[in-house]
Amino acid sequence: MDCIFCKIARNEIPSKKIYEDDYMLAFNDINPQAPVHILVIPKQHIPSLDEINTGNSDVIAKIFECIPPIAASAGLINGYRLISNCGSDACQSVGHLHFHILGGRQLPANMA
Ligand code: 5GP
Ligand code: ZN
Repeated sequence: MDCIFCKIARNEIPSKKIYEDDYMLAFNDINPQAPVHILVIPKQHIPSLDEINTGNSDVIAKIFECIPPIAASAGLINGYRLISNCGSDACQSVGHLHFHILGGRQLPANMA
């Protein structure tokens, strides 16, 4: 599978890992848009939010359970933003579901 995030999950491409378990990986974005910019991915290849279903939503639940402690361990005591770009209108550039955790500064109110 020629997917960059699958390769990161398999350690074929290096990343700065923040958290890892059997189901997910959190690592620093290579092009950070904020002082803290972490990507959280399922290890299994799910292309986007549109492909979440009853067969894989258990992994999504585990990811969401882990996001608050990951944000806390990154020092985001004043809050953070969680984003998942889905499809071309949202400028999704990597076709493997991922959640951006952004924080460490005041973020703009208008995201669009
Ligand atoms: P998207 O635009 O799909 O929502 O977000 C993709 C993100 O993946 C971007 O923020 C981009 O900087 C990040 N990214 C792309 N390739 C790599 C990579 O090889 N390593 C890491 N750590 N991040 C990457
Ligand atoms: Zn993938």
